[in-house]
Amino acid sequence: MQNMVILGATGSIGASTLSVISANPTAYRVYALVANASVDKMLALCLAHRPQVAHMVDHKAALALKAQLPAALNIQVTSGEDELIALVTAPAVDTVMAAIVGAAGLVPTLAAVKAGKRVLLANKEALVMSGELFIEATKASGATLLPVDSEHNAIFQCLPEEVQSNLGRCDLAASGISHILLTGSGGPFLTTELSNLAAMTPAQACKHPNWSMGPKISVDSATMMNKGLEFIEARWLFNTQKDQLKVVIHPQSVIHSMVQYRDGSVIAQMGNPDMRTPIAHCLSYPQRIRSGVEPLDFFKVGQLSFCEPDFNRFPCLALAIEACSQGQEATTVLNAANEIAVEAFLQGQIGFTHIAKVNEACLSSVPKRAMPSIDDIIALDAQARIYAREQLAKFA
Ligand code: NAD
Ligand code: MG
Repeated sequence: MQNMVILGATGSIGASTLSVISANPTAYRVYALVANASVDKMLALCLAHRPQVAHMVDHKAALALKAQLPAALNIQVTSGEDELIALVTAPAVDTVMAAIVGAAGLVPTLAAVKAGKRVLLANKEALVMSGELFIEATKASGATLLPVDSEHNAIFQCLPEEVQSNLGRCDLAASGISHILLTGSGGPFLTTELSNLAAMTPAQACKHPNWSMGPKISVDSATMMNKGLEFIEARWLFNTQKDQLKVVIHPQSVIHSMVQYRDGSVIAQMGNPDMRTPIAHCLSYPQRIRSGVEPLDFFKVGQLSFCEPDFNRFPCLALAIEACSQGQEATTVLNAANEIAVEAFLQGQIGFTHIAKVNEACLSSVPKRAMPSIDDIIALDAQARIYAREQLAKFA
């Protein structure tokens, strides 16, 4: 029986995780649920899953939840940063699903890593910001890190055990691997007339052809910044060297990524586009459990197609690959800028193509200083956000 904390329980990954747990009640117990401010959703989750602790980051939300929870359920409601750290590091906890969206997930996710927990990593932004520090912390504590992001989970499944057990420090070439092929659908605007991109609305950007996800990652998929963040995520997880990592557009989202070996073999992981598959894989690794996902029907799939990414259409992808080659300071700045730009786009303050402009301005202008500690990372993130907010006015 694994005792679980679910960070980001009220989100899309949170829901998929709870669905897989419900299908396997003898193997996993929901110890704690963590969310930002959605009281109604958290209340429903508490009634359905009966955790010992429900943590709301927003203090008022915690009070409202407490007032509505039936006392007989005996669920402890907490709030506050120290309480959250105490929760993820508690001795009773075996496994932490890290599925808070954005930089807000960094501190609790890193705390779980440092406490040596089994960490299922969906929150790619945490790794994009803290890369080297995150991997070092994993090695120092002996935490088990398992990638939830469907592409990284696919890559993980296609890798030999010697690489799987040494994430972040593995030597791909020594294991006969020539390339990691990171696939991406190209999102809702893959074939939109370029001149129409500027007018695309949040609703259009959030309408992904294959996946159902939270709003931030949906917009990131439309700009392909998501693939850019995943490029950086893959760089850290699989310790890729220059030219070992390639992005391949594959609009059907049936292949979730591939590993190419020296002898000409390519191993791909396939399945229906449903996050319950990678989540179930991470929960049960190295065993396999039922996820509730329909088996892939090849006769319905029909054709699989592939093409190269067009950096003119997807400037955010080019920026992320560039930032990745510059280093961790650059990726932290880009991630912060992107969170501000996407939020502004979702609120109707800037246009779709302005997202890349804000990101580019921040990446080229925010001074990058060394970040030996988590405090330095958080300070650079804050500085980049200030600069990005100043840019918004130019594009409003
Ligand atoms: P979502 O918007 O649906 O849910 C976000 C969750 O984070 C919510 O529970 C919310 O309460 C919580 N949250 C937001 N701000 C917070 C804060 N300041 N402090 C604490 N909690 C906060 O997002 P999602 O689509 O579930 O994505 C979550 C993460 O997983 C993201 O990093 C995303 O990139 C990654 N991911 C998602 C998918 C997917 O299919 N949805 C796939 C791969 C990776
Ligand atoms: Mg992904």
